[in-house]
Amino acid sequence: MRVKKIRMVGFKSFADETVVSPQDGMTAIVGPNGCGKSNIVDAVRWVLGEKSGRALRGKSMEDVIFLGAETRKPAGMAEVEIIFDNVDRGLPLDMDEVAIGRRIYPGSPSEYILNGKRATRREIDQMLMDTGIGKTAYSIMEQGRMSEILKASPEERRSLFDEAAGISRFKAEKMETQKK
Ligand code: ATP
Ligand code: MG
Repeated sequence: MRVKKIRMVGFKSFADETVVSPQDGMTAIVGPNGCGKSNIVDAVRWVLGEKSGRALRGKSMEDVIFLGAETRKPAGMAEVEIIFDNVDRGLPLDMDEVAIGRRIYPGSPSEYILNGKRATRREIDQMLMDTGIGKTAYSIMEQGRMSEILKASPEERRSLFDEAAGISRFKAEKMETQKK
């Protein structure tokens, strides 16, 4: 499973529709300070379910919406979509391509879209569990995350092994059942 496309519209500095298409192997994003490299990573974290606007370097979640510039009006909506190549069925859906999207309008909570249909965050979380690409998993290693992992308690570190071993899903289901 791999990311085929990241499409952003009205998200942070990407006022116009911008598509990033990672290639096979390694893709590096380079550019001057402030050109939007980290905003692309923020877009990925946001679509994967980030709940904290601060974690995305804003004050509130609405700060992800393009706020306008001298010659541009603010955007009326921010939208991000990731398209995964799922030929290997890394995601538990019987489809060759899986699209996860999220959008937000000013003054409303954000909404999720899975393969073109409205979905809940829970559905997305469940689909990503044990794949290593959930927002708390290990697919995004930001600055400081390595030392955070090294300094974590054995219990905290254990959750990364659970995810890699593919048992997070069962643990979550067990906890859910025990609550009932
Ligand atoms: P560096 O090399 O310094 O890490 P970078 O390429 O990672 O830079 P980003 O942090 O991705 O840069 O982009 C920062 C830019 O995004 C800033 O110019 C900031 O004004 C702009 N930006 C952030 N949020 C918004 C928003 N909601 N609307 C418009 N622009 C925004
Ligand atoms: Mg940066």
